[in-house]
Amino acid sequence: MAAIHLKDMPRKRLRGWLQEAGFQGFRADQLFEWIWRHGRVELDTMANLPRRLRAHLASQSSLHSGLSVARQLQSSDGTRKLLVGLEDGLQVEAVILADRERRTLCASSQVGCAMGCDFCYTARSKVRRNMSTREIVAQFELCNTLLAEAGEPALSNIVFMGMGEPLANVENLVAALQILTDARGLAFSARKITVSTVGLVPHIPRLVPLGVHLAISLNASNDALREQLMPIEKHYPLVELVAAAAGFARESGRRVTFEYVLLGGVNDQAEHARELVRLLNHVRYKVNLIPFNEFPGSGYRAPLEEDVAVFQGILRSKGVDVFRRRSRGRDILAACGQLAGKGEGAV
Ligand code: SF4
Repeated sequence: MAAIHLKDMPRKRLRGWLQEAGFQGFRADQLFEWIWRHGRVELDTMANLPRRLRAHLASQSSLHSGLSVARQLQSSDGTRKLLVGLEDGLQVEAVILADRERRTLCASSQVGCAMGCDFCYTARSKVRRNMSTREIVAQFELCNTLLAEAGEPALSNIVFMGMGEPLANVENLVAALQILTDARGLAFSARKITVSTVGLVPHIPRLVPLGVHLAISLNASNDALREQLMPIEKHYPLVELVAAAAGFARESGRRVTFEYVLLGGVNDQAEHARELVRLLNHVRYKVNLIPFNEFPGSGYRAPLEEDVAVFQGILRSKGVDVFRRRSRGRDILAACGQLAGKGEGAV
């Protein structure tokens, strides 16, 4: 049987695991702090753990991980794309976006993605597997180490908008979020974390108790258009998705962000903007507009500037908070929907 990896367990699970083996529950708090707050991987250096517990951990679990940054690309706008090498040799991408003192990690949750969104570069790489909890968290640790070495501010925000659909890997994602936000662990503020989903409706309520923000990659104002762009629509039509978003906003007290990639001549016309406002009528929300980044063979084009302005103007005139997301890291294919884990676009 493969050894349990201690970095895959949030504190509560660690406590249960230790208690089952006959140790007192508070030992989990001590061990958890050694691992996450102090970054220790050598059991012998965990001074306040009894020898018997250290022996148990040494025989029943592992703590070392073979994760590393395989390659780093830097864009002219300061965006960094890291290729993170996983223990089995596969790679995922983690992107650091820099904006004055703010450093945002765009984290991956799967190797590849199975959602098949028609306009997405990542979709072409197919899903290989889910990332483990420790692999998800490792992106945060590796990026913070790199930032510290470069004398830059630590990560201030995390968005799960990299490779993969986070809610398709919901168990490992939730455990990773628990570790990231645990006051005795990495103590990262849940309010600074956003999970973005295409809309795996049954899993959306799982995010409420975690205190994180929800973003929904919407990209269409009606069912027919969404089905054409995003296969998930067949499973969870817009009416169900919007109801789940409204439920999240109600339960969490947080506004939902709807991400809308503007595809030239496809979903970027005035009628789509008006339809969008009607669709989201009952939700507390804001909208991020993302002009499409063309890539070779994409089959879609970027929207015209005037169409973006009209679309944004209509939403604004209806009282919607609407933002236009600046595209970052274009020259290294680190922009939204452009992650594929192969390091294309090297500078
Ligand atoms: S847009 Fe997101 S969910 Fe859709 S295929 Fe790309 S990575 Fe997957």
